[in-house]
Amino acid sequence: MKTYDVVIVGAGPGGIYAAYELQERAPQLKVAVLEAGHPLERRKCPIDGKTVLSCVNCPRCSIMSGFGGAGAFSDGKYNITNDFGGTLHERIGKRTALELMRYVDGVNLENGGAGCKLYSTAGSRFQKLCLQNRLKLLEASVRHLGTDVNAVVLRNLYDRLKDWADFYFDTPVRHIRLDGTGFVAECDGASFACAKCVVSVGRSGSKWMEAVCAELGIGTKSNRVDLGVRVELPAVVFEHLTDELYESKIVYRTEKFEDNVRTFCMNPHGIVVEENTNGIVTVNGHSYEDPALQTQNTNFALLVSKHFSEPFKDSNGYGESIARLSNMLGGGVMVQRFGDLTRGRRSTVQRIEEGLVVPTLSATPGDLSLVLPKRILDGVIEMISALDRIAPGTANDDTLLYGVEVKFYNMEVELSDRLETCHPGLFVIGDGSGITHSLSHASASGVFVAREIAEGV
Ligand SMILES: Cc1cc2nc3c(=O)[nH]c(=O)nc-3n(C[C@H](O)[C@H](O)[C@H](O)COP(=O)(O)OP(=O)(O)OC[C@H]3O[C@@H](n4cnc5c(N)ncnc54)[C@H](O)[C@@H]3O)c2cc1C
Repeated sequence: MKTYDVVIVGAGPGGIYAAYELQERAPQLKVAVLEAGHPLERRKCPIDGKTVLSCVNCPRCSIMSGFGGAGAFSDGKYNITNDFGGTLHERIGKRTALELMRYVDGVNLENGGAGCKLYSTAGSRFQKLCLQNRLKLLEASVRHLGTDVNAVVLRNLYDRLKDWADFYFDTPVRHIRLDGTGFVAECDGASFACAKCVVSVGRSGSKWMEAVCAELGIGTKSNRVDLGVRVELPAVVFEHLTDELYESKIVYRTEKFEDNVRTFCMNPHGIVVEENTNGIVTVNGHSYEDPALQTQNTNFALLVSKHFSEPFKDSNGYGESIARLSNMLGGGVMVQRFGDLTRGRRSTVQRIEEGLVVPTLSATPGDLSLVLPKRILDGVIEMISALDRIAPGTANDDTLLYGVEVKFYNMEVELSDRLETCHPGLFVIGDGSGITHSLSHASASGVFVAREIAEGV
């Protein structure tokens, strides 16, 4: 049994920033970071677009786990806002949440991110244009690090932390046990005792987190899933928006069902990628800061939020079933031209090849109306028409829709305003807590908890 003052479970942005801030504020503490995935340099998704075209279900998905967490190969869009990306501000206050996000942004800049542009929607002329078309542009500042710079920042943070904290990779924690006033993190063949434990297991650790909460009698609730598609179109169609704002988060309220549909994760000149969550293949996207790696296309998700009420509790199960259906029909991610969808026919390899948009992901041409529930699909179609009014060309026949994109929300863990469970000293942060859904909120929650711990030393 190894003994530490603090054990951090998970080396995603939440865990990394918890470690960073502990090193800053309480360097005398002995800290271990236990990570299920690989070190940064060993993280490699086998999909190469040539011999391996789609997900082969690796035991540890390199896109989702390892040093840097799910964010490591992400587009590194660092949003500074309380309007989306999580509800951290409801626990720690709006001002503190923004201060912490700005603090992390500053650290990112010091560690390789300097020079990356900060975009802002404040005072943008697009706010009026959106409102005139039943759309709402959400307020945010976004620093676009890009996948390449994001990796540099992570490497620098690791170099800074590695001689101070003990990192254990390929070390999934199986159980957390209460031990007197402390905790024991049990792994295969090793156990780690600690006075304080910070759990930051992200989305890939959602099922595990649920089991830990059940074992330790920690309350949880879950009632939301976002479902939709990833849209890919020529970058010029959205250029007026993306040049000024980079990422525009736009919300549309559907006429038919009065559901909210929103744009999510916009990647100018980016690529569409597969994502594997607990063996289910869904779609995502990212882009590079380096012009040499950029494409002619822009992609973004259109998601419809689905909130369930009693007695149904398994919102993620619902999202998974729909993603499985798409995997069953398409063998992975499915792609359809918008024109084929509105004409009620499946897309074919030939129709996609003849289209004006060259897909950046090799996906199976199919029919999304056989996968997505009518309510979701109607919302997506309505929103594409609304976006066409502010970005003409969005509703062109050749616009590609990849499905399905699912945004799973971890069940929300019952936590105090210190992000502490009912067991004093056991904290849950980042996306694993269900409170954050973004790089900025997850990182900020890590800094927040590290300061709470350092104050008590
Ligand atoms: C392709 C992609 C693109 C994205 N792009 C953006 C973006 O541009 N902007 C943005 O704000 N957000 C983006 N996100 C979301 C963002 O990456 C997450 O919100 C963020 O990484 C959450 O950080 P986290 O530390 O809470 O969790 P994670 O980053 O998920 O890290 C959790 C870590 O815990 C480890 N773990 C899990 N279970 C265990 C266990 N039992 N024992 C030990 N370790 C465990 C995992 O291996 C993982 O490394 C993207 C996500 C993906 C997948």
